[in-house]
Amino acid sequence: MSTPRTVLITGGNRGIGYAIAEEFVTAGHRVAVTARSGEGPAGSLTVRADVTDSAALDAAFSEVEQKLGAVEVVVANAGITRDMLLMRMSDDDFDAVVDTNLGGAFRVVKRASKGMLKARFGRIILVSSVVGLLGGAGQVNYSSSKAGLVGMARSITRELGGRGITANVVAPGFIETDMTAELPEAQQLEYKKSIPAGRFAAPSEVAKVIVWLAGDDAGYISGAVIPVDGGLGMGH
Ligand code: NDP
Repeated sequence: MSTPRTVLITGGNRGIGYAIAEEFVTAGHRVAVTARSGEGPAGSLTVRADVTDSAALDAAFSEVEQKLGAVEVVVANAGITRDMLLMRMSDDDFDAVVDTNLGGAFRVVKRASKGMLKARFGRIILVSSVVGLLGGAGQVNYSSSKAGLVGMARSITRELGGRGITANVVAPGFIETDMTAELPEAQQLEYKKSIPAGRFAAPSEVAKVIVWLAGDDAGYISGAVIPVDGGLGMGH
């Protein structure tokens, strides 16, 4: 078993974030989730925060530090889509997606790095997407935000890699959550045809990879993009 750690996951009230929190709890870690509404799974601490709000995140981190200890593993998972073709995409839809997915990750890892530098240990995991590197029609905002996470993890690796801190990207393909349930059935069937595995994945399949990345055996992996996509993004 890996050393028990204090873990914070953003957007842990549903979908992939909820599954990540469940897996960390099962693996014996001290787990906190941020949520705007709802709760994380049994055995986790839920703290309120919107990732677009630095002050709220700061307060959430302070609460976790007080109740569970300094955050050693942070998973920037909260994310949104606002898909639209480029010509019709509003500035607001572009800004909101980038501010949540990329800006949110920045705010979270910046706050987390304080304690990690002090402890000379940290695991930073950014939840990107296969479309970050593959691109997606109607997803100029979303794919830009997700590609940005790769530069973020690699810059953090160069800045903090010598202090016992790793930063990696996990890039899921199609995972069965509310986000993909919104897609029309015909489109879901079309996507399944293009995935070598021929299916979407369960959230737990992403969660287990993230728990492994945070574990003792993954200490020499940093600046990597780890696909969990059934082969959809091969070569990217
Ligand atoms: P869901 O839509 O099911 O859940 C999104 C989560 O993010 C919710 O907990 C939501 O909170 C939270 N969130 C959104 N905006 C904010 C915000 N401003 N502040 C705080 N929390 C916020 O999505 P998934 O579980 O499917 O996705 C999780 C991550 O995985 C996202 O980053 C997504 O881009 C990525 N991903 C998902 C894929 C998929 O196929 N599902 C594929 C590739 C990547 P609330 O409940 O309050 O809205």
